[in-house]
Amino acid sequence: MKKVFKIAVASGKGGTGKTTVSVNLFTKITEIYTSKTVLVDCDVEEPNDLIFFPQAAIKSTEKVFQTIPVINEEKCRFCRKCVSYCEFNAIVVIPPAKFAEINANMCHSCGACTFACEHGAITEVQNMIGNITNYDIGIGNGLTEGKLKIGSAMQTMVIKKMKPGINGENEIIIFDAPPGTSCPVVATVTDSDYILLVTEPTPFGLHDMKLMIDLLRKIEKPFGVIINKAGLGNLEVYDYLKKENIELLAEIPFDKDYAGKYASGNLLNNVPENISKIYVDLVNKIIARFNNV
Ligand code: SF4
Ligand code: SF4
Repeated sequence: MKKVFKIAVASGKGGTGKTTVSVNLFTKITEIYTSKTVLVDCDVEEPNDLIFFPQAAIKSTEKVFQTIPVINEEKCRFCRKCVSYCEFNAIVVIPPAKFAEINANMCHSCGACTFACEHGAITEVQNMIGNITNYDIGIGNGLTEGKLKIGSAMQTMVIKKMKPGINGENEIIIFDAPPGTSCPVVATVTDSDYILLVTEPTPFGLHDMKLMIDLLRKIEKPFGVIINKAGLGNLEVYDYLKKENIELLAEIPFDKDYAGKYASGNLLNNVPENISKIYVDLVNKIIARFNNV
């Protein structure tokens, strides 16, 4: 069976440079190892990997739907049996007011309420919650982007729907995870083989990295740390990694000149030589791990 290595790039907080690391890593892997690599933007609330690829062209797009139950108040007897079946507190039934409603943003589409209702008062409809788009970006096997519909809270569902379609012809899959440690992050990292944890050497960076490390240890995922903006802040992150015996995979120095070019939109064409070399070393470490799986 073909070997596929899935890498998630994650960070305990936003603003660490996780997306920059994901995109540069993807580009470098396709340059020096295999073009059978795809980048998957799982930050479905604010996907922005696409900004790095102005040449992107849409290959395909599909809508993501969630099955939502709807209560017909004409048929409802307001017995509240569905309420007791719902583990997600998504149903409100107030018998004296003859009120019955399902909150689509809290519903997890488990189907328990439809099963529970003995009066045929619940039917199911398809609710559009987002899009999944595949882009040809002229590099590797392209970019897959998930985008949540504005107003929907179903990030996890969109992320889960993205994954089955991307195995295809890929040897390496890079997931750019949402920031933080919530359910969408867990949905992104659970079936990854290795997690690259991006942090910055500040007290906030350390605090949020620790939360992420707790999570990864709980779900027993192997990981290593990349310190971005190295040279700013303090040395506490380094002390912590040493004390906890956690692998420091790379340090990407803060480069004022590059940061300026980055801010003005020259994203992938102006990576300084010293930073480019760090990504080459990082890719070599990752590939060595891939070959040992
Ligand atoms: S189980 Fe059916 S009848 Fe009872 S409250 Fe729920 S929707 Fe109404
Ligand atoms: S489908 Fe499941 S989660 Fe949604 S309202 Fe019904 S019981 Fe609750």
